[in-house]
Amino acid sequence: MSHGRSDGKPARRFPLGLDKVSSQPGAGVRARPAPAANAPQREVLRPQAHLHQVEQDRRRHTVPQGVGLDSMPVRLRMVERLRADGITHAGVLEAFARMPRHLFVDTALVNQAYEDTSLPIGLGQTISKPSVVGTMIQLLCSRPGLTMPHVDHTRPLGACLEVGTGCGYQAALLSLLARHVISIERLRDLHLKARSNLDLIRRHLPTWPDVRLVYGDGMMGHAPQAPYDTIIAAAGGSALPQAWLDQLAPGGRLIAPTEDSRGQGQVLTVVDRLPDGSLQHTRAGAVLFVPLKSGIT
Ligand code: SAH
Repeated sequence: MSHGRSDGKPARRFPLGLDKVSSQPGAGVRARPAPAANAPQREVLRPQAHLHQVEQDRRRHTVPQGVGLDSMPVRLRMVERLRADGITHAGVLEAFARMPRHLFVDTALVNQAYEDTSLPIGLGQTISKPSVVGTMIQLLCSRPGLTMPHVDHTRPLGACLEVGTGCGYQAALLSLLARHVISIERLRDLHLKARSNLDLIRRHLPTWPDVRLVYGDGMMGHAPQAPYDTIIAAAGGSALPQAWLDQLAPGGRLIAPTEDSRGQGQVLTVVDRLPDGSLQHTRAGAVLFVPLKSGIT
């Protein structure tokens, strides 16, 4: 049987020999021309990358560039609005200036990241408005214990407990003003989301935020690390859980939304444990937070 061709040209054999695969013009396979020195770099595709790495890359690349969302000026405009709203504590304002809020919200919401608005973070939960977060943290920064001797005023929140980690934004802000932060979340998926958000943040900040994320029911506080100089809840229940009061150190302050006793929405409740151990309750205005729920999911 003949392998010759009727047009008289020699037959091609497959696979081609290595000598045929060269960059010589006319050879069986043409080599790709080398890119010009000034050609733009092609994105390297890494289909084999770990899933968590892919997610991190996606977030890094999809933050809009050129609209300033990843830059300090947008954040500083938010800080100026917070100042105008009555948040004047220098440390609190600096924390807002340093923390990139856009890295905590979904890509589709990035354009609203520096507006004074609450935003959905999944599973029916929301990241609170910057002005509300700022008001609460500022209140914690004037806890009674700050007048006691040997207090580190660069870390006014001392040992801090947060109930309701959500996406981790508030925990990250708290960490810039606390000695350390324990933050509890009852929804496993949000706990994991906060974990990956904080891993991303750790690469953006020169100092490592000392935040320990706990998956559990925050209504019981977190006894292993108690007592706390400051306790902050990002979800509101009908009453303050006894565990929070028990875990509040002398000179400490707790702030949490609770249902108004007349059934007219939520109010911000502030509880101080005075140096003599007694508790003092005050109220700081109407608020609207997601409900505090028991158990984990
Ligand atoms: N501080 C968060 C706000 C999250 S919203 C942020 O910066 O994103 C409030 C969160 O409280 C929700 O994620 C909700 O799941 C959580 N939560 C409600 N009840 C809780 C409980 N008993 N223990 C722990 N977290 C709770």
